[in-house]
Amino acid sequence: MTMSTSPRPPSRRGICPALSAPMATGDGLLVRLVPAEGWLTLAQMRGLASAARAYGNGIIEITAKGSVQIRGLTEDSVGPLNAAVGRLGITPRTGLPVDVSPLSGIDATEAVDARLMAARLHEMAADLVPRLGAKVSVVVDGGGALSLDAFKTDVRLVARPGKGEKMWDVSLAGDAARALPFGSVRGRDAPDLVRGLLERLAALGPSARMADALPPATDAPPRPMRETSPIGLFALTDGSTACGIGLPFGALHADDLDALIAAAEAAGARDLRPAPDHGLLATGLSAEDVDTFRTAAAQIGCLVLADDPRRFVAACPGAPACASADIPARAIAAEVAQVLGKALDGSLQVHISACSKGCAHPAPANLTLVGLPADAMDNRVALVREGRAGDATRPQITAEALLPTLARLAGALDAAHTPGARMVETLAALPSSSLEPLLLSPAVLESTP
Ligand code: SF4
Repeated sequence: MTMSTSPRPPSRRGICPALSAPMATGDGLLVRLVPAEGWLTLAQMRGLASAARAYGNGIIEITAKGSVQIRGLTEDSVGPLNAAVGRLGITPRTGLPVDVSPLSGIDATEAVDARLMAARLHEMAADLVPRLGAKVSVVVDGGGALSLDAFKTDVRLVARPGKGEKMWDVSLAGDAARALPFGSVRGRDAPDLVRGLLERLAALGPSARMADALPPATDAPPRPMRETSPIGLFALTDGSTACGIGLPFGALHADDLDALIAAAEAAGARDLRPAPDHGLLATGLSAEDVDTFRTAAAQIGCLVLADDPRRFVAACPGAPACASADIPARAIAAEVAQVLGKALDGSLQVHISACSKGCAHPAPANLTLVGLPADAMDNRVALVREGRAGDATRPQITAEALLPTLARLAGALDAAHTPGARMVETLAALPSSSLEPLLLSPAVLESTP
């Protein structure tokens, strides 16, 4: 496999809203923070909650890649927030983003401590960073229980299990299902190999991603990916347990986060670790304390079961938080998840976007519900199948009709579902020509086989 020396047109790009570069959104400025250590003490997390309340709109999010986001800042409040983060002793990650599992180094099932390799790569690439695109990243997966298979990255190293000198499987561009295999490398040789790849990427210009430097993707079927949910229990090397929970639609208000921190403290947690898939891991728990923490987290509204249907619905803050919003996306998301129920089996991704910008899920989703400006009667919602929020055209329904419409869709999926099939396949089998009337008319629905 060879890398091209001339770039194809660059991929869709954006600027990461780091603490030093806040991003304008419909509800003010947003900053993203990745703690360099990978975890936050309970005191630091409590301090962040206070800062989100004092300087933002009180909403704290954890992204799909496990970054912390604080929303609703102003030009005047970004500086004080930065100062507060410094006072809390939180060091934001800088330089080349090298992602490892949040449990790396304490995961009892990890083949090798990925943090050591990550630190070597981070140091090795320091001088290249100014010439690399802002989104270029590397994943180092030590083979633990919490995989990073879903991360789309430029270079992926996965530790092979086994004794003796550690070998790493290398793949390029994409998630673990679609990345192009690039062979294996001994641990001692990996930094030089990765540096060589990044140097060639830098030579293509600051907007290049690894996918731009590779031959066009083939039609090879995607490889199976390991489960990435942080929701559950994870055995740690010291005999204690990490308990992972999910934030509802990736967000909590600072008041709820305070309650969660208090629950973690009462359960004797050592720290809280932001995790992929909008998760948070409380580490250092005993078997008895796990239940205490999990029960409290569920009462706060957090996800404590990996098959919670809310996990498969992405929703932006929506109205009233965001000035651009046409519907209260996050407020209705729980009802949408409940109505779709069994249809959300983990294979189907639903996205609720309060406007066509699609902040919560820029990639296509199987079903996207997009808020549209009000007409004479009501706010409307466009339904997009296998697309993005920006693709919204028709069919459109009134916001009031949304839940009954989705209930009909859930019924149709249930009726068409065959044992062993995934719901995404069941939806795909519904012909486009039938979906619009199916969604809009109960009479047509009843006649659907
Ligand atoms: S997608 Fe949601 S959060 Fe983003 S601008 Fe639109 S309404 Fe605001």
